[in-house]
Amino acid sequence: MIRVHNLTYAYEKGDSPVLKDLNLHIAEGEYIALIGPNGCGKTTLIRHLNALLIPSAGEVLVDELSTRNSKSLLEIRRRVGMAFQNADNQIVGMSVEEDVAFGPGNLGLPPIEVRRRVDEALTRVSLIGLRSRPPHTLSGGQKQLLALAGLLAMEPKIIVLDEPTASLDPESKKKVLTLLRKLNSQGLGIIHVTHSMDEAALADRVLVMDQGELIADGSPGDILSRVEWLKTLGLAPPQITELMWQLQQGGEDVSTCIFTVEDAA
Ligand code: ADP
Repeated sequence: MIRVHNLTYAYEKGDSPVLKDLNLHIAEGEYIALIGPNGCGKTTLIRHLNALLIPSAGEVLVDELSTRNSKSLLEIRRRVGMAFQNADNQIVGMSVEEDVAFGPGNLGLPPIEVRRRVDEALTRVSLIGLRSRPPHTLSGGQKQLLALAGLLAMEPKIIVLDEPTASLDPESKKKVLTLLRKLNSQGLGIIHVTHSMDEAALADRVLVMDQGELIADGSPGDILSRVEWLKTLGLAPPQITELMWQLQQGGEDVSTCIFTVEDAA
């Protein structure tokens, strides 16, 4: 669905590139966690996926539409939904439903279709009962769910989330993570940028970046069990993996483990 070919990007001409000759293929319906130390280029990479940034060299294709082609921008942004860490900055409506209606309304859809999408999106994130509330009266977790509803109302193929649980309490975190798994099981692709290795363990595929390059791409079981290696990158392994590792250092026989949303939250 998304192909990144030899992507190189520098914020200013002449600066050393923040992304270096990066190649990546993302299929439909994947749940991907993107991890890496602060400043390694995760946000810069995902901004390329819906044409918020255009490569200095190389190419990003969404279903064969190039992000370089300005005529494809609307269609690319409809297919690839993107939400950032601070849900407050993404609120545009005076009420919850008006906020969710903003995106589909801008697509020029008939009002009845906008209404259908708003109802469906708010139902999927369990905010339908709060449809008339002013968004600023919602909790942090509810605002994050509202941001997700706004994305879902555009009926994207994939959503890209930059640290969606960063400022949430454990209960709201659990709700968002459970919802992401559910949306993925319904066919929606997800790219989840996270600092939490426990959250990364919930994905089907983990991409690791360092200094503008993709340095590993594998299953959570493969990537997140490399305890020493993750530590050299300044990344804390998932709590449960760290525990198993410490037990193994002590000669204990630890065979399998299963990650759950409960562990991540
Ligand atoms: P991450 O999301 O992994 O923390 P970023 O993509 O935000 O990393 O940043 C990668 C590098 O690009 C960092 O060195 C950062 O300072 C730099 N950078 C990010 N945004 C800008 C910008 N708007 N202008 C110039 N440099 C930037």
